Amino acid sequence: MSKQTQSNWDVIIAGGGPAGFFAAIRCAELNPKLRVLIIEKSSQTLGKVLASGGGRCNVTHACFDPAQLVSFYPRGGMALRGAFTRFQPADTVKWFETHGVKLKTEADNRMFPVTDSSATIADCLRQAATNAGVKVQLGTSLQKAEKNPKGGFNLEVREGAEFFPLQTKKLLIATGSDPKTREIVKSLGHSIEEPVPSLFTFNVNDKRIDGLAGVAVENVTLKMDSLTQSGPMLITHWGLSGPAVLRLSAWGARILFEKKYRSTLTVNWLGDYRLDSALEVLQRNKDWHENARKKIAAQPAFSQIPVRLWKQLTQFIGDKNWGDISKAEMRKLAEELTAGEFAIKGKGIFKEEFVTCGGVNLNEVDFKTMQSRITPDLFFAGEVLDIDGVTGGFNFQSSWTTGWLAGSALAL
Ligand SMILES: Cc1cc2nc3c(=O)[nH]c(=O)nc-3n(C[C@H](O)[C@H](O)[C@H](O)COP(=O)(O)OP(=O)(O)OC[C@H]3O[C@@H](n4cnc5c(N)ncnc54)[C@H](O)[C@@H]3O)c2cc1C
Repeated sequence: MSKQTQSNWDVIIAGGGPAGFFAAIRCAELNPKLRVLIIEKSSQTLGKVLASGGGRCNVTHACFDPAQLVSFYPRGGMALRGAFTRFQPADTVKWFETHGVKLKTEADNRMFPVTDSSATIADCLRQAATNAGVKVQLGTSLQKAEKNPKGGFNLEVREGAEFFPLQTKKLLIATGSDPKTREIVKSLGHSIEEPVPSLFTFNVNDKRIDGLAGVAVENVTLKMDSLTQSGPMLITHWGLSGPAVLRLSAWGARILFEKKYRSTLTVNWLGDYRLDSALEVLQRNKDWHENARKKIAAQPAFSQIPVRLWKQLTQFIGDKNWGDISKAEMRKLAEELTAGEFAIKGKGIFKEEFVTCGGVNLNEVDFKTMQSRITPDLFFAGEVLDIDGVTGGFNFQSSWTTGWLAGSALAL
């Protein structure tokens, strides 16, 4: 912070990510008299927005019913229930439209800017902040925050090798998953749920999927411990990915962390088929006279299984014709198709989106205002909270919602 810059502010927001920007803009638009400052430790704001959604920014999800929306949050859904009645994806769409950006909905309900460029979103937020009179100080990180007995906060910030004091009446922490800020949050009386990664792929090394990178199955059902998820799955060079795997990784983030990312995954390649109904289909294939002399490996019994995958799943039967398959082989194949077991041996990275679960304990925050229940005039928004969603735009949505609510309360 240059020494010339004023040191007294009405509102300081630590963190120039989507949550911090949304809060700052809302606050400054509602109450233009307030002096609002964002301090951002890196050399640019909105870094994750720019990198998001493979450079396209999956801004939100076309799910407009708060009760349904919360089911996409492995952690934080309950707390967000009321918050979504105040600001939900329909409001996000409207907000961006009002600020000059049109969003579009894709077949799987993910929403992107029509430009397919994350820079559109970052530029929009930066412009809106400038228009509202928000000041942004780059390369400036929050180091310490102490409650001033006379009201407000005394902060220590660092710029390069130098440290400077700042004062503010209200403080919003929107520093994402930054580990250092968690210590500051603790020093202000809050407890932190231990952070662990969420949204990752599974490292699986198994001859049944060897050489099949790029093969996708439209609807599988996955089970791990007591967790179940269904949806598309993709075979990769390292193992398994796709929406069903990512959702399971989010719901199982803590279990898998504790197990050091080693577990058994049960795959039903046929989605919701049960063993007996799979057996019936296999029996019909065997009985169908035209099939009798056709190779099992070349003739998948289920249209949803790609031929290359079918070939490897049936390899244990050998080079037999449908007419020659035994009852025991048929049963084993039905088991393989509906409950194949695969060893998860590690965690891979999902490049399009990753988040951390854990953060500020949600019971310590009032979700009407995002104000701390422990330290008055302290607010939280975004990923610094113990909230995370599955992939699909839900993580940004929680940043927009909590940022907007915090901004509304900061303006009062
Ligand atoms: C590669 C990638 C792609 C993603 N894609 C999507 C997607 O398409 N859709 C989706 O919904 N979610 C996506 N996510 C998740 C989403 O980016 C996050 O949930 C969201 O950015 C959280 O917003 P935030 O403002 O809380 O935190 P952040 O975006 O992490 O912003 C926090 C900011 O605070 C700054 N900061 C940290 N500590 C300090 C400090 N002490 N002082 C000052 N500043 C500090 C950081 O530098 C950062 O700029 C993606 C994440 C990644 C990593």
